[in-house]
Amino acid sequence: MDSSFSNLHVAILSSPGMGHLIPVVVLANRLAAHHNVRVTVLQVTTAVAPPESKLLNLHVHKELVQIIQLPPVDISHLVGPSTQVVTQLCLMVREALPVIRSAIDAMDRRPDALFVDHFGTDALPIAAELNIAKYVYVPSTAWFTALTVYCPVLDQEIEGEYVDQLEDLRIPGCKPIRPEDVVEPMLDRNDQQYDEYVRMGKQIPLSDGILFNSWEDLEPKTIQALRENQTLRSIVNIPVYPIGPLRRPIEPAGPTSELISWLDRQPNESVLFVSFGSGGMLSTEQMTELAWGLELSCQRFIWVVRPPTRGRMDDAYLSIHNTSDDTPTYLPEGFSTRTRDVGLLVPTWAPQVEILSHPAVGGFLSHCGWSSTLESITNGVPMIAWPLYAEQRMNATFLVEEVGVAVRPGVLPTKQVVGREEIERLARSLIEHKEGQRMREKAKQLKLSGMDSLGHGGSSYKSMCEILSKIG
Ligand code: UDP
Repeated sequence: MDSSFSNLHVAILSSPGMGHLIPVVVLANRLAAHHNVRVTVLQVTTAVAPPESKLLNLHVHKELVQIIQLPPVDISHLVGPSTQVVTQLCLMVREALPVIRSAIDAMDRRPDALFVDHFGTDALPIAAELNIAKYVYVPSTAWFTALTVYCPVLDQEIEGEYVDQLEDLRIPGCKPIRPEDVVEPMLDRNDQQYDEYVRMGKQIPLSDGILFNSWEDLEPKTIQALRENQTLRSIVNIPVYPIGPLRRPIEPAGPTSELISWLDRQPNESVLFVSFGSGGMLSTEQMTELAWGLELSCQRFIWVVRPPTRGRMDDAYLSIHNTSDDTPTYLPEGFSTRTRDVGLLVPTWAPQVEILSHPAVGGFLSHCGWSSTLESITNGVPMIAWPLYAEQRMNATFLVEEVGVAVRPGVLPTKQVVGREEIERLARSLIEHKEGQRMREKAKQLKLSGMDSLGHGGSSYKSMCEILSKIG
């Protein structure tokens, strides 16, 4: 099969936010580096959150990928204090439609296809107007994709809130979903973001095909259902393409990085990396328990810390103290001193891919964002699943129950504060015990199967060639 498509130009629309731009740029780099496709990324930006400076650190294929930051859109007149994230994202894309169209019109060469991420489905008619191919890129699992396209049916079939259902939600041919694991927009059917999500589910099948960041060996059953299950096919009568695992390459933290030198001094597979993605935050109460849990576990750790949100019990915990060492005020007094020999606190942001690929790292306590999950699995690192929002609860269940590369607390961390003893137990089991070793072996197998699927002749590689052949 021909793998070079140097005649093609693809435009990819990224919804706002670093968490959405990263997978789009990763896809763009893949198209450029492995298939010689020219790619223009159109990034929707907002006046409220200007393009993040971290973009500067993002690796971009120099010759073939261009990122255009669209003029910021203003949605302040459309939102209130209670407007949820998904609604905001969809509104931003909707408001950006004229500038997206102008940016495409201004291109020296009209693209042969428009790819949009799943928040950008409102832009699909632009591709129809231009008479070019249109694809939706879901930078997540086949399972999440199946739920999204099937949600309009659940909307008709199920009465009341999904979270109140006594039985798991059934998607034809796929693993059922526990009501408590549904994606964020399905938590409240009266909120506008639920309507946006249902609309998204209806619009995705209007494209020419769906790409998602997974691979055949990781989700064989769901991928087969999306291709062959008659009920699902009656809804998604377009091709589906697993094209993953796509993830960022290692971005060196710099030769003098203290963090990497510290990791270099730790034994193999001994360090627990703790991070909650680009925006995940915990309550003060939960931060306190996590700090104590890590300390009690006596395991080595790197923890990306952010100031907490205010939780239920915060008044009891917010006896903000003057710290005698460099412990942040929201962590237990003296934490940094007591854990000095085993742990590192990194404020706000860390070179995650580089950390996860370091041989000293043996586990990842993660919010289970899909990019973080793939960065972990493709480095053979098992996880403590700590989902917070979006589709992370589904990801956590998938990793624990289906893939076998994660452990998790008994109760969802969004429902109840996870206590220090449980955190201690989870950290020990992942790093020290046989259970952790078994999961590490499984993660290493997946790392290899992921590499195979991306290699020449691999399933994801072939999927991508098939899409490009259709476009070309
Ligand atoms: N990330 C990082 N350093 C951090 C936090 C996050 O490099 O300190 C990157 C991480 O490697 C991943 C992305 O940000 O590529 C987070 O995406 P994910 O889908 O995991 O979660 P989200 O942030 O969208 O919730």
